[in-house]
Amino acid sequence: MIFMEKEKQKILVIDDEEVICDACSQILKQEGHNVQIAQDGDAGLECYSTFHPDVIFVDLKMPGISGLEVLEKIRAQDKNVVVVIITGYATIDSAVESMQKGAFDFLPKPFSQEELIILTRRALQRKRENLECQRLIQEKEHMRQNFISLVSHELRTPMVAVMQYVELLLSGVPGEVTERQSEIYGRMKIRLNELLKLIDRWLRLSRIEELKIKEGFSKVSLRPLVDEAIDMIKSQARDKDITIAVEHIADDCVVTGDRDMIKEVFMNLLTNGIKYNRTGGTVKIREREQDGYYIFDFSDSGIGIPRSEIEKLGKEFYRIHTEGAAAGSGLGLAIVKKILDIHGGRLEIQSQKQKGSTFSVVLPEYDKEVQDQGEKDEKNENTDH
Ligand code: ADP
Repeated sequence: MIFMEKEKQKILVIDDEEVICDACSQILKQEGHNVQIAQDGDAGLECYSTFHPDVIFVDLKMPGISGLEVLEKIRAQDKNVVVVIITGYATIDSAVESMQKGAFDFLPKPFSQEELIILTRRALQRKRENLECQRLIQEKEHMRQNFISLVSHELRTPMVAVMQYVELLLSGVPGEVTERQSEIYGRMKIRLNELLKLIDRWLRLSRIEELKIKEGFSKVSLRPLVDEAIDMIKSQARDKDITIAVEHIADDCVVTGDRDMIKEVFMNLLTNGIKYNRTGGTVKIREREQDGYYIFDFSDSGIGIPRSEIEKLGKEFYRIHTEGAAAGSGLGLAIVKKILDIHGGRLEIQSQKQKGSTFSVVLPEYDKEVQDQGEKDEKNENTDH
């Protein structure tokens, strides 16, 4: 919806006092607005759904449903609508509660014509800002999707084709390949592979979408995931003669989440623990439980990370340029952080240069009530449609 300057702006006043409704209606109509009134919360909500107001004035205390409930119900449907609470009993507590629930401001009774007009102008200004903000978010998302599709089709697809041509040349089918040519084609293949890996990781990071992932959340037991992740990287560990040890706690660690994504987190941290380790080193995984969270520490005996760099890790493409360090994309930790964030968890990093690092995965424990509520919401949504 585009907010036209000349367009009549719609204002809904919900108050059980007839005199307030009439006064507001007269004043706001004189200001050129389109005004509707309702004398209780239910009537207000009904009017809201057909009138689609830009600003709502709602009385805090009314018979039937209260102003706060009206505010909550409206904000649950539309975060852009601007709600002003009218009240005769403005207390700090009610002010804080209304603001927390998303009210824009207060209008204490009795109020003057001027106060109402000024507050209405400010509220309409906020509505314009909300719409502009929403437009910019949508534009940004549109640009992001376009860029993903550009990287995928215009960059990745021709790169795969070039790779296939290099492989064809290397096979010798189009013509005999000298030793020197084979060496050069081989190097081209390695570089192309690295580039393709980088593109694939970036596409992976960009395609992780919070809402879609949360829809698929289920009860996940973490211990088997650690074992599966170890199984998948054990040949890398063997190549570098690295020992992997796991220290379990007594209980099974169960969380609400996406199984494959959590496994990806474990895999990324294990791979880094091997990649940035010395030959013959160790990677230890320790489970802990603390204040409603499960914590998995991945500790390695590797090159360590300078203190000043720790904060910067996890930003897209951020790598520490240490001499002799393994090649990479600087996207692994960004993926880890994004996945943990979606799960309500976090990544903690501790490290000592040349001694090793500990990357701790912190995930909230499985909460039956949250899970049940999520399932209920999903069911309601499905029956609503
Ligand atoms: P990549 O390993 O592909 O470069 P990451 O996002 O996984 O990307 O890691 C970013 C940077 O963090 C790495 O380049 C490396 O400098 C540092 N790093 C990650 N894990 C470790 C580790 N276990 N020990 C030392 N440095 C690490």
